[in-house]
Amino acid sequence: MTLRPKAPKQDLSNWKICQVQGCGRLRFSKKYCQTHHRHVVKTGEARPIRPYRPRSKGTVRYSGLSLSAATVEAIERIAVQRHLSRGAAIAFALEIWLAQETKPKPVG
Ligand SMILES: [Zn+2]
Repeated sequence: MTLRPKAPKQDLSNWKICQVQGCGRLRFSKKYCQTHHRHVVKTGEARPIRPYRPRSKGTVRYSGLSLSAATVEAIERIAVQRHLSRGAAIAFALEIWLAQETKPKPVG
């Protein structure tokens, strides 16, 4: 077993949208998205930023990718269960998927 850094502690049962009206980004911390959380930490207030526009219908922006909400939930589950960062959880899921895709087909 290899030791990995623990993912930051977050309330993942409450995974929702940033509290700033019209923002639309996924919550990061204290009910804010990453950008608004940074604003609040640095200046004490959440300034307006360009409204979030999803890249394609039915997907959310997650770790630089456009993923379905179901995929984001599955990745978050892996991250929590295995104490992985988001990126490491995505890599883990990809490796499992590729191992299955490239597995030799049973002869018969
Ligand atoms: Zn926001």
